[in-house]
Amino acid sequence: MNIVQIYKQFPDHASCIKHLEKVRWNNIAECPYCNSTNTTPVPKELRYHCNNCNTSFSVTVGTVFHKTKLDLQKWFLAVSLVLNAKKGISARQLARDINVTKDTAWYMQMRLRKAMVEYGELLEGIIECDETYVGGKNRHNNKKTKGGQGRGGEDKTPVIGILERGGKVKARKAETFPVKPLNPSSNRM
Ligand SMILES: [Zn+2]
Repeated sequence: MNIVQIYKQFPDHASCIKHLEKVRWNNIAECPYCNSTNTTPVPKELRYHCNNCNTSFSVTVGTVFHKTKLDLQKWFLAVSLVLNAKKGISARQLARDINVTKDTAWYMQMRLRKAMVEYGELLEGIIECDETYVGGKNRHNNKKTKGGQGRGGEDKTPVIGILERGGKVKARKAETFPVKPLNPSSNRM
């Protein structure tokens, strides 16, 4: 996805949270500490209370987005910019692009790059899948089959490749993205 698509699809923090909840949990919240699904939503805080171990959590726990005060939309944009930059992007440039300080941009880059280095191939696969998916989505505008794609096309982004568990990135390529033949030339925007 390019940044315009991300801006449109994820207009605010809440929509980013929703997206992560869908791709990580399939909308059924699961406590990251005890794996219980016996939870009570706390909608105002975009969090959940675990009725089993009595902790509170949000979908970002254990992901690269965890413990950041930054708006998730900026993270999503940063992911797009960093992953799509063929020759890399400087912290200064990233800072300008998403309107954060250079230090913040540097920190975001470090986290994202670490995730990419550790699981580069998987991430790359996900980006390719995503591009394929975007192409698929466009085709869908012509012949839309309801429910045919399982989880729907609009909210696929490379972002999901950055999910982390226990400090490790967890890429969910197979689960998250329908496998389709790659045809990059027709899918580049
Ligand atoms: Zn729990």
